[in-house]
Parts: sequence; structure tokens; C-alpha cells
Amino acid sequence: MKDTIAAIATPPGRGGVGVIRVSGPKCAEICLAITGVTPQIRSAHYAKFISADANEIDAGLAILFKAPNSFTGEDVLELQGHGGPVVLDMVLRRVIELGARMARAGEFSERAFLNNKIDLVQAEAVAQLISASTEQAASAAMRSLQGEFSNKISALVEELIRLRLYVEAAIDFPAEEIDFLADDKILNAVDNILQQINAITNQARQGILLEEGVNLVIAGRPNAGKSTLLNKLTGQDTAIVTPIAGTTRDLVKAQINLDGVPLNIIDTAGLRVTDDVVEQAGIARTWQALDKADLILLVIDASVEQETNPWILYPELLANKNPTSKVLAVYNKIDQTAVAAKILQADKYSGVYLSANTGVGVDLLRAQIKLAIGVDHDTSSAGVFSARRRHIDALLRAEQHVTVGKQQLEINRAGELLAEELKQAQLALSEITGAFTSDDLLGRIFSAFCIGK
Ligand code: GDP
Repeated sequence: MKDTIAAIATPPGRGGVGVIRVSGPKCAEICLAITGVTPQIRSAHYAKFISADANEIDAGLAILFKAPNSFTGEDVLELQGHGGPVVLDMVLRRVIELGARMARAGEFSERAFLNNKIDLVQAEAVAQLISASTEQAASAAMRSLQGEFSNKISALVEELIRLRLYVEAAIDFPAEEIDFLADDKILNAVDNILQQINAITNQARQGILLEEGVNLVIAGRPNAGKSTLLNKLTGQDTAIVTPIAGTTRDLVKAQINLDGVPLNIIDTAGLRVTDDVVEQAGIARTWQALDKADLILLVIDASVEQETNPWILYPELLANKNPTSKVLAVYNKIDQTAVAAKILQADKYSGVYLSANTGVGVDLLRAQIKLAIGVDHDTSSAGVFSARRRHIDALLRAEQHVTVGKQQLEINRAGELLAEELKQAQLALSEITGAFTSDDLLGRIFSAFCIGK
């Protein structure tokens, strides 16, 4: 039989209420020992929490859930006392004395998964809902928690199984095999599955964007208007702005929410050759930040600079940047030029003409940022669900198998090989929901959760 686990489920620190969560066969027994009663199932019972030497540790609510009707699918006891770290520790210690043990990180969710209360995607969605930093990210996590993502994967797995059985049946009747494999029906079904995998992958990518956000680095020469632009984007005086070149020496960081996508913006020291050691250190940090950037806004002072091609203006930066980071040129200070706010779309680069001071053109920049980082127009209503990188990885592997299978069919007319690839694709997708996942992977997923979850 399973042991009984316990943890403080509320965050550390002081609060009005603190909750101890207990799960396992000893819940009723522990409840009786600590409160003196066995409360009615699923009803809040006000009680004193009593220590081993009959002292009152705290008073609060005890709620008992009976298996399988609980979060973990086991008997669960919730003790809701006062939210102070010392008093919660005392109650937890008493629960442990009575036969529970401390829960590991994520162990409640792991039990819920093992008892088939939720699948792996849903367990991960719980963690994502808790850590969501925007409303859109929270809604996306809720959609996954309600099974939207899992249902799509399950439907796809079923289709893969159906197609594989069809192909295998053909192999078992060799006389008909040739005709059957030449039949467009199979090819169409394969294409259809590939399309669905693609669509789900794209939606999952949106989910990841909502959760992880994007690192956006503002770079450029001193005095180009980088700090002014940061302040315009954040709507606050985040960075110091002066006409003196070299004002920003350390990295200035801010987070904004661009249609639900968290943007981690870093304003950097202007790139130039300097003797000032502090400024040199700042420039070194700029390079480090550039290395981690998903998107670089390269600010160019359009009131003095005639050249528009950032690759000519910043050859060193663009040659050494991380190959995965994108670049958007920002031609600033148009209020001092005759140029209107506009988007410049050249062969190898794109940019926006704007004035960080007046704000003209900043909306165009926001739209271009969304485009560059791949945000779909409306992340909230597009049915975006939360996802993780491991999901994308499994989807890509599934896509690869189906693609190889398709080639086997088209080029070699090899039904067995197609069937085998479809099976591999199905296994890859099953890893997402946890229908087929190694213990090792499960251990890694749940240990990243926090205690009490
Ligand atoms: P940074 O060194 O690149 O961070 O540049 P700052 O943001 O500190 O700006 C340098 C100077 O340019 C300041 O005096 C700003 O007021 C000025 N500046 C920034 N943006 C604009 C703009 O759009 N138009 C004009 N006219 N001046 C600007």
C-alpha cells in the first residue's frame, strides 16, 4: 500500500490562511488524532489542531476527501490553519509524527497522474497555471488543464492507430497490397495527419511564447535613443535618459506584456570604443545580453545616419550575434527629419521609422515585434493552450516519422515501413500525455514542480 504524504501547500511567508495537504491511506486516522473527530466527507469542519501533549497548536478547518474523489485520487486531508511559517511547521510536524512523511516536489500531482486523475499535459498545466505571468498565459494553462491539448493529441493518436491498422491489414493480404498502397486514400490520410501535427505544433509554440516570453535586447550606438525607447515601451521612466553619450552603463531590465506575451526587455550600454572602464564593463555585458536575445532592436539615430542597412552599420554585432536571434532596425528621431513613421522592408532586413520621444511610430514597432517573434494576431481567442518544449520535441519527432513513412510509401511502396513509422509517431505523441513515458522522464517532470503541488 502507498504511504501517506504531507506538505505545506501555501507559499512560504505569512498570510491569513495556510494549508497543509495530506494524501494517502492514513488521512482519516491523522485527522481524528489531530482534531479529535472524523468529519463528514467533503465538508468543512472547524476544529482545534492538537499536539501530542494535548496542547492547542492552531484552530482552523479540516476537510476530508475520500478516494477516488480527490485531487490525487487517494484519501486527502486539508488542514487550513493560520498562515504563519512557525505555526504551519508545527502542524506539519504533528502530521508527520502521526505517520505521514514529507512529500517530494510535485508528488501530489504525480499521484494524481499515476491514479489517472489527470494526464501528464494536465499535470504540467497545473504548474503553468501557477507560474503564469499574464492573463493570457493563465487562460492557456487552463485550456490545457481542461484537456484541450490532450484531446487533440489523443485524437491524433487514434487516427495514427486507425491508419496503421488499415496499412497492416493490406500487408496481410498481399494480393491486394499493390493496388491498395497505390490508392490515394492512404496518402491523403498521411498528409492530413502531417497537417494536423503542424497545426498543433504551431499552437503549442504560441503557448510556449505566452509562458516563457521573449528576450528583447535594445542595442545601438550611444545616444541613439535606446533608453528613451525602453521608457516608451514600458510607459515608465525605467532608464535614465540624458543627452550625454554613455549614460547607460549597466543593463536596465524591464518586463512588459505585449498582447499577453511577456517581453523581457534589456536596455544596454551603447556600443562604442571607450577608455572608461565602467563603460567598457557595461559594453561587455551588452555582448552577453545580445547572446541571449531572441530579438534585437538595433536603434539607429536617423537624424544623423544616412545609411539604413544595419548590416553595414553594425557589421561586428551582426556577424557575432547568436544565429537564432532576429534583428529589427529602429530608425529613431524622425521628428528631426522629414521622414514619416513607416515600416522599411528591405531584402535582408526590416525596420521601423519612429520617434521614441514623441511616440509616433511606436505602434508600428509593436506590431513588427509581434511579427518577428511569431505571435499570432490574437493569442487570447485563438484557443492557445499551454505547452512545454518537450511537447514540441515529441511533435517534431512524430512529424519526422510520418514524413519518413510517407516517403517509404511514395518511393518504395513499402507498406511495412510506413506502418512502423506510424507506430513510432504514435509512441512519440503518447509521451506528451504520458500514456507511454519512461519513469525517468516522469521523475524529471515532477521534480521540477514545487513542494505541496
Ligand atoms: P541612449 O544613449 O541610446 O540610451 O539614448 P537616450 O535614450 O539616452 O537618448 C539620447 C538623447 O536623444 C536624449 O537627449 C533624448 O532625449 C534624445 N532622443 C531620444 N529619442 C529621441 C527622438 O525620438 N527624437 C529626438 N528629437 N530626440 C530623441
